[in-house]
Formats: sequence, structure tokens, C-alpha cells
Amino acid sequence: MTSSLDDLPLRDDLRGLTPYGAPQAPLPIALNVNENTHPVPDAVASDILDDIAVALRDVNRYPDREFTALREGFAQYLGHGLDASQIWAGNGSNEVLQHILQAFAGPGRTVFGFAPTYSMYPLLAQGTGARWVAGERQPDYTITPEEAVAQIEQVDPDVVLLCSPNNPTGTPLGLDVIEAVYAAARGVVVVDEAYHEFAPHDAPSALTLLEGRPRLAVSRTMSKAFAFAGARVGYLAADPAFIDALRLVRLPYHLSALTQAAAVAALRNSDVMLGMVEEIVAQRDRITATLEALGYTPHESWSNFVLFGGVSDPKATWQRLYEQGVLVRDVGIPGHLRVTAGTEAETTAFLDALASIESAS
Ligand SMILES: *Cc1c(COP(=O)(O)O)cnc(C)c1O
Repeated sequence: MTSSLDDLPLRDDLRGLTPYGAPQAPLPIALNVNENTHPVPDAVASDILDDIAVALRDVNRYPDREFTALREGFAQYLGHGLDASQIWAGNGSNEVLQHILQAFAGPGRTVFGFAPTYSMYPLLAQGTGARWVAGERQPDYTITPEEAVAQIEQVDPDVVLLCSPNNPTGTPLGLDVIEAVYAAARGVVVVDEAYHEFAPHDAPSALTLLEGRPRLAVSRTMSKAFAFAGARVGYLAADPAFIDALRLVRLPYHLSALTQAAAVAALRNSDVMLGMVEEIVAQRDRITATLEALGYTPHESWSNFVLFGGVSDPKATWQRLYEQGVLVRDVGIPGHLRVTAGTEAETTAFLDALASIESAS
């Protein structure tokens, strides 16, 4: 006998919600969840395996609860004079964001972001019992400091989530907006820089704003540029007191010894791990140029994906790409689809498939 969700004594505030559900279909060309489609290079993979093998010998013991070596590795990777006391990490930046919301959101509190933005933000907020409030962007998905401040003042959120560059639109976010939001907000401000490595090299990081802003946190992930999505490692930088708040809500030993070993070894090889970023950026720019030539309207992207408009029937186009073995993402924005930049061959397969099925509306 199986019962339905409705029969269970579920929390009232979770009734009617749907879980995160990007399709995981076994298609040859998967360009739907912004993974780095280049595998970890062999030499690095064996280096990582050596460290995992060593860690495995002590796996009868709990891991270092403070993941000290990993925090030192992230501080060094990020630069900007950061040290390990300003670093936190989790099983993906989703868990890091969850820690922030467990500490600073929760029942009776409000989490705010400018929509359309990362689809996990509302789910993470609701998971802690907090209320999600979606703010607005310009039609081209940019945000001005003035508009941002007006919305923050109206909503007065406990947590502001700023995605820079923004998913699913790829839109860059100026530091002037972040500074203005921080100054206007009473609550904590999180800048999610999941795609920062794909931005132009001279694009400043919100890490440069941390000094003197104890309510600001900048999160990153190894899932995208580092080609490490399956390992589940995300991290953030913030004031040491902010990090102490996260210690209150994390599960003890939340980062396994194997995860810590793998991530430390991957960071030691960051030059090689990040070696594909330029190639991915080149494919992203090629997607943009080709989509334009096909009559679609791609949006400016500083990430590893492109959101494009001018799709007369996104569901139909999604389905026809699917039938040709190409998985892209319908993010629910009318007239739009999102595609991740793949290898050169994957990108070609996507562009050829799109060109073959339909002309833009
Ligand atoms: C992919 C993504 C993440 C990363 O999630 P992980 O849990 O680290 O895999 C975080 N934020 C945004 C906006 C993303 O698109």
C-alpha cells in the first residue's frame, strides 16, 4: 500500500510545493544544467585518487570537522588577502546557501532576490520556513542601484540573494548595485558568484567589497569552472563572525574526509582544472554569434550558458532538440530557452540541431 504526500503530516508550508527537477535524461549532448562538460584531465584525476586513497585509510575516524586544509586552499585560491578564518565550505554551494538561510532566515523571516534568478533560491528559503519575495529587473534583466534600493527598502528582507552573473539569464551585476543593496539592507547580503570564472578577466569580484562589510558573503562553487559538479563542493568568503553563525547550523562533520581530500587535491591542480574555461568561453561566444545569425535574441552572458529569446514555442523546440539527442533547459521564461556551452563538438551538435528544426519567430 502506498500513501500520497497529502496523507502524511507534512509541514503546512511545504504543501503544494514541487521539488527541484531539472530532467536527468541520458542524452548524448547534455547542455541543460550548466555543468562543465569537459572531464577532469587524467593526470589530475590520478593525483586526486592518490589523496582519496590516503584519506580512505583513516575513514574509520570522523573527518576534520573544521576542514582546515580545504579552507586554507580556498583562501589561497581566492586571494584578496583572505585567510582560512573567512572561509566556509559545504557539499555544493547549495548547502552553503542552506546554511546561510538556516542561520539568518527561517520562520517569520524574508528572503529576497531579483527574478528571474536561480530556481533553488525560493526552494532553499521555503525549506527553512522563510518567505521568498521575488523582486524585479529591467526588461533586459539588468538591475540599477536606484531600483534595487527602492525594492530593498520596500521589502526589508532578512537575507538578500544576488546572483552575479545571474542564472538563468547570464546577466552581469555591477559592484555599484551590490554596494547600494548592502547599504540599504538591514539583513545579510549574499553574492552568488557560481560563474565568476567565466566572466571577463578584468571583472571585479564582490570579494573586493568584503572588508568592512560584516553582513556580506560571497559564495562560489567547484561545480562549474572546476568541472567538479559530481564531487559536491561549494564555499564562501565572509567575516569570521559570519562563519561562526554557520557553525551553529551545520551538521557535525558535514564534509566527508573523501570530499575534503578530493577538493584539496583539485585545488592544488587549479591551473589544470580551470584550463578549459577559455575554451568554454569561446564556445559560449560562438553560441551567441550563431544564435544571432539564426535570428534568435541571445542575452549578454558572463557565464558558461546562454539564454536566448525569439523561440516561438519553447516546449516544442525543447522537444525537437531532445529527439535529436540534445538536452537544453526550458527555464519557464516565455519565448526563451537556455543552453550550456559544451565542448566544441557538443556545441556544434546543438547549433546544427537548432538550425535544422526551426527558424526563429
Ligand atoms: C550551479 C549553481 C550553483 C552551484 O550549485 P552547487 O550546489 O555548488 O553544485 C550555485 N548557484 C548558482 C546560481 C548556480 O547556477
